[in-house]
Amino acid sequence: MRRIYEPTAYGPLPDAGNYWRETASAPPRPHLQGMARAEFAVVGGGFTGLMAALRLAEAGADVALLEAGQPGWGASGRNGGFCCLGGAARTGDDLIRRHGAEDAQRYFDAERGAVDLVAETLERLAIDADTHSRGETLLAHRPRDWAALRARAGTVAQRYGVTPELIAPEALADRGMASPAFHGGLTVPVGFALNPLKYTLGLAHAAQEAGARLHGDSPVTAITPEGGGYRLETPQGTLAARRLLIATNGYSSDDLPPALAGRYLPVQSNILVTRPLSDDEIAAQGWSTGQMCYDSRHLLHYFRLMPDRRFLFGMRGSLRTTPASLTEAEGIARTDFEAMFPEWMHVETPHFWSGLVCLSRRLTPFAGPLPGMESAFAAMAYHGNGVAMACFAGTLLADLALGRRPSRPVPQLMQAPLKRFPLGRWRRAILPLAYRWYGWQDRG
Ligand SMILES: Cc1cc2nc3c(=O)[nH]c(=O)nc-3n(C[C@H](O)[C@H](O)[C@H](O)COP(=O)(O)OP(=O)(O)OC[C@H]3O[C@@H](n4cnc5c(N)ncnc54)[C@H](O)[C@@H]3O)c2cc1C
Repeated sequence: MRRIYEPTAYGPLPDAGNYWRETASAPPRPHLQGMARAEFAVVGGGFTGLMAALRLAEAGADVALLEAGQPGWGASGRNGGFCCLGGAARTGDDLIRRHGAEDAQRYFDAERGAVDLVAETLERLAIDADTHSRGETLLAHRPRDWAALRARAGTVAQRYGVTPELIAPEALADRGMASPAFHGGLTVPVGFALNPLKYTLGLAHAAQEAGARLHGDSPVTAITPEGGGYRLETPQGTLAARRLLIATNGYSSDDLPPALAGRYLPVQSNILVTRPLSDDEIAAQGWSTGQMCYDSRHLLHYFRLMPDRRFLFGMRGSLRTTPASLTEAEGIARTDFEAMFPEWMHVETPHFWSGLVCLSRRLTPFAGPLPGMESAFAAMAYHGNGVAMACFAGTLLADLALGRRPSRPVPQLMQAPLKRFPLGRWRRAILPLAYRWYGWQDRG
């Protein structure tokens, strides 16, 4: 596996403090053993791969999924649980400029459809994932951003067909959103928060019930064309499949398959979770809302008070993954948490963890065929916003592999082949410059 971060990024250390692992578990899926065959092979057991496997199995297809860890080992079992609009790292205006108004609107519809898909899936499969929050609230981190939020309300209404709500700076405290760090807000009534691991494990269970064979602890180490299909090697078994679906996102390798080399860029995101807060502590800060929120920075923070009274606080991670960089990143997250929620300065944050999200060169998600590979498809690059979009893309991936018309309109911008980043395997070197540029734009 040719991966671009330090080996620590792909080991247990970044996930060691993951709070979700205390809230849900499932019996481990057995590793692939010996020689096996399937019509469809899915590589990766996160939202993308599991949604694809579920859809394939429900269509009556013969499908085997290979996951290097256990289902939910990657970002799907580590994220903040914000099921919301998003998936691209471009503004709506930018998408319209680059892809035309029609296709951009198809993308806005897909964002909304992706959130609906998760809600429908939770209901249909009776997955209890501790949902809360009515839509998502964006908070101005500088007084001047309040004006930008007011302008944004109009375009949100137009693009997503909903009525957003503006919250004036002086009204934040009444809404249980008191903090010296925020200067007004905009609530977009689309989306909700969930426990991502409960959701992932629910998808895994449903895919298996529908007939998909799920294998954990089965890292694919080689993919070679064979007899009109593919041969996938794992340490203890080999899978021969006619069609291949790659769903490895931030944990991808440049050689699995080589068609991905240099065409995706993993980036770290980190989360802190507090111990349960008392009523007095919640009152002291004045933060009692169950809304999921994020701030108006490019390098944003995302946070929510969860139903169990713990507070989740997330932000971008560091540029390297070593034991020292993880400790340093935890310190940075803690400093930002204390600055935004000063009354909780004394509150312990026993949980800290990190995971990899994935960018594409075009800064838009991808779901489509892999160039130069017959019957091989991939979906990835949700730019840190994959709870909803990965589920949409996973379903689309299955439809593409089945050769059937997708059930929802698909934006063309998601199907353009992944473009290569400059610097090849050294492409991570782009990030310090990008972070510095965005940090400069975000300054107070
Ligand atoms: C800390 C953090 C916070 C986030 N917060 C949010 C949020 O609040 N809202 C939101 O919308 N998004 C969020 N995201 C992003 C979101 O989690 C991802 O976009 C989404 O989970 C991607 O799903 P996936 O299935 O494509 O990838 P993953 O869940 O990463 O799954 C990929 C899987 O592929 C497996 N794999 C890789 N290589 C191989 C191989 N060779 N053989 C077998 N298996 C392999 C990995 O083990 C991994 O389990 C967050 C991400 C992180 C890390």
